[in-house]
Amino acid sequence: MARSYDVVVVGGGHAGCEAAAAAARMGARTLLLTHRLETIGEMSCNPSIGGIGKGHLVREIDALDGLMGRAADMAGIHFKLLNRSKGPAVRGPRAQADRALYRRAVRRLLDDTPGLELRAAAVEDLEILQGQLLAVICADGTRIPAGAAVLTTGTFLRGVIHIGEQQSPAGRVGDAPSIGLARTLERLALPLARLKTGTPPRLDRRTIDWDGLQKDPSDTEPEPFSTLTDRIENRLISCRVTATTPDTHAIIRANLHRSAVYGGRIAGPGPRYCPSIEDKVVRFTNREGHNIFLEPEGLDDTTVYPNGISTSLPAEVQQEFLATIPGLEHVRMIRPGYAVEYDHVEPRALSSSLELKAAQGLFLAGQINGTTGYEEAAAQGLLAGVNAARRAAGTPGIRVDRAESYIGVMVDDLTTLGVTEPYRMFTSRAEFRLSLRADNADLRLTRKGMEWGCIGTSRAERFCVHESAVGQATDRARAEGGTPAELARRGIVVRADGKWRSVHELLGHVGVAEESVAAAFPWLRQVPPRVLVQLQTEARYAGYLHRQSAEVRDYRRELAVALDDVAF
Ligand code: FAD
Repeated sequence: MARSYDVVVVGGGHAGCEAAAAAARMGARTLLLTHRLETIGEMSCNPSIGGIGKGHLVREIDALDGLMGRAADMAGIHFKLLNRSKGPAVRGPRAQADRALYRRAVRRLLDDTPGLELRAAAVEDLEILQGQLLAVICADGTRIPAGAAVLTTGTFLRGVIHIGEQQSPAGRVGDAPSIGLARTLERLALPLARLKTGTPPRLDRRTIDWDGLQKDPSDTEPEPFSTLTDRIENRLISCRVTATTPDTHAIIRANLHRSAVYGGRIAGPGPRYCPSIEDKVVRFTNREGHNIFLEPEGLDDTTVYPNGISTSLPAEVQQEFLATIPGLEHVRMIRPGYAVEYDHVEPRALSSSLELKAAQGLFLAGQINGTTGYEEAAAQGLLAGVNAARRAAGTPGIRVDRAESYIGVMVDDLTTLGVTEPYRMFTSRAEFRLSLRADNADLRLTRKGMEWGCIGTSRAERFCVHESAVGQATDRARAEGGTPAELARRGIVVRADGKWRSVHELLGHVGVAEESVAAAFPWLRQVPPRVLVQLQTEARYAGYLHRQSAEVRDYRRELAVALDDVAF
């Protein structure tokens, strides 16, 4: 009989890698089973991590010692803080990654995780007795006993790829679908439904006419995702921007009936906020063009990802419409775009720990739960991994709520509202977003992670130094200050109302320049940059944050009423 494990994770995508690493960090003997070890950490679609809402998730994953932020920093070749001109609550860090470097980084982080084994195998079935998971069964018949299992099979459950009128069974291009496991879930009487997603064609960089296309440079001082990354080492590149034309739209309109989606060959809904080019042409009839970001897939890779034209039109139509786009007149299409349709499990079948209500010890995470995106998958994976390890150890599961994290918002949305289309994270989903910022993810979550047991020593040490520096700087900023007359002597002009104002208040005062506060209180110049950002942001939004704390208290009070049905 095969060796037994505390936790077995099925799938080496974004959810699976985080789940496996988190379970192992918790001290569980963990096995990751995936079709092919070479595709561990594969980015099936866009070569980028983060963005608005999604970047918050990556920072939260990092705060809980997950892999994604560190891997994106190791593989990033184009960094941008989105919404830089807006408030800190909605700023979203984003990095475009070198695909091969990203895979390598994830693999290295997994290989460096003690207590984690990786094995190539297809899982075909699960052994569940009286509502309790006992083992996973591989395609070759091997039975692997497990205290808990996490399924993270992505788009593979009964996956079908569509390119125009052609269909083929596949989880994504080049990978077989997962049929046996879909039947197992059906046998468990779980609610299954179909969803779809799509990807654009890939282009040969050497056949693009780059001259004249607008540049989209990386930030020159990239902000890492991970608090463990001191600096970004990779060479940074620029992307270019082009756009579809009326001729492109005419070709797409004339061939709509041949598109897998519009020809009626796909039933499942797709991601509304990541529409195909067919959707854009149909929905926005007045638009003369739609932007396309030409994103290199790697430093030494000639493949370019044209972000914005995902499609399921036939390959020859894709080639035809590409030639109507400035810069792509003579482009060689390396691979056509396609749509993939797959089964997902209605996530209301899960408790807030991501364990199936119908099968103790069986957890689901990632696209299998009806979400879309690497970040959403990874965040669920981490939570499921922590809870699977706790289930195997017989300790109570943990939950995160909407007031402390975007992960909590997502899990609450999924498990209480369910999905009717692929779920994607946005800042607008978080009602407490002023306090759930990307810049304070560690202050919100790392200490919790330490209590759960999923934080490694080096992160814990770094975090404690940062947390205490923020605390000390805040205390000092609240204790020091002056009356208007005293401040005037230090070069700061405020209303002459005789009122004593703290440094903290001055930092949040719109009429007072940060520079003059730092000149008047020079110790601020010695404060580490990340600590100063915290201080300034908390000071600037103090009034709103105070009000939000009251709302959070109300929310938690209401939550306490409904807590009886929390998982184990
Ligand atoms: P995946 O990354 O798909 O990983 C699943 C893993 O499970 C794979 O390694 C697979 O080999 C393994 N596996 C499956 N079944 C078994 C089994 N039975 N035994 C062993 N191993 C198994 N996201 C967006 O945000 N925007 C988009 O526009 C977008 N477009 C996409 C287009 C395509 C064509 C595809 C395929 C995906 C797209 N995505 C998009 C989604 C994104 O790729 C996923 O959200 C993300 O990868 C999900 O991560 P995951 O870990 O859940 O699954």
